[in-house]
Amino acid sequence: MTSGGIDLGGTKIEARLFDAALNTVDLRRIPTPTGDFDSFLAGLSEQVRWLEEQAGDAALPVGVGLPGLIDPQTGRAFASNIPVTGRDLPGALAQALEREVPMLNDCQAFALSEAHSGAGAGHGSVIGLIMGTGIGAGHALDGALPHRLNGSALEIGHMGLPAHAVDDLPLRRCGCGKIGCYETVLAGPGLQWLSGQMLGEAIPPANLSARTLAGDAQAEAVLDRWASLAGELLLAIQLAHDPDCIVLGGGVSKMPGITERLTAALDAVRLGAMRLPVIALAQHGDSSGARGAALHAISKGRQ
Ligand SMILES: [Zn+2]
Repeated sequence: MTSGGIDLGGTKIEARLFDAALNTVDLRRIPTPTGDFDSFLAGLSEQVRWLEEQAGDAALPVGVGLPGLIDPQTGRAFASNIPVTGRDLPGALAQALEREVPMLNDCQAFALSEAHSGAGAGHGSVIGLIMGTGIGAGHALDGALPHRLNGSALEIGHMGLPAHAVDDLPLRRCGCGKIGCYETVLAGPGLQWLSGQMLGEAIPPANLSARTLAGDAQAEAVLDRWASLAGELLLAIQLAHDPDCIVLGGGVSKMPGITERLTAALDAVRLGAMRLPVIALAQHGDSSGARGAALHAISKGRQ
């Protein structure tokens, strides 16, 4: 079945048309109208209509992935980079298009995409863990998204770092308002901060891994420390969800050797004789948000 997926971001709205095997057959990006809700809604509607026209099908399954959440009870959206917070985005889009367009959080879309036909394929319980400018995750269970009270993804970036692991580091206030969240150390800017704490020089993650490859022991020590803290987060994920597979995405996951490093870090803190989940790199990269949104729309159409 042909389908369409839209990846909403703070700078662009990307529409992808997929064939039955979920390969991208057409793609169109427009700048995100960030001025107000009405212009944003017009841009989003235009992208849905473009997909319908390309497919020649006004009933094409189309889904939308967004960096935020939609309250399942009220339809109210919450997102930090697009002008939709407090508005009934699904309701307004349905009115504009005269049909429903299912929406989901982009981390959930990532997890669904990788679980269906990516690095998590063949595994029943798949966590998609995105490590980029923030830390977020989604959970696909038997190829579907479990119901969640707030319609949120797994907000594990905002769980607290364990005290024993950071007793020599200052606690940082997170963008969410809480203090000592995993995100403050594990996301890209957090890793850079950690290098500043350890070496007196805030080094961007890409430079850190380049230095490590060149044999720099100080850079290696920073990545070891970062990985041991990431291992604590992976343990928390395992204890709470016991997934078969954890798929990594986001800019920080592009550091060479990341899966081996994080598998070793989880192994070092594993509880008793628990088996370790497979830790793998995402296969669909930049298309995951739109792919997962399309899959979500297809599954909603079957219900
Ligand atoms: Zn936080």
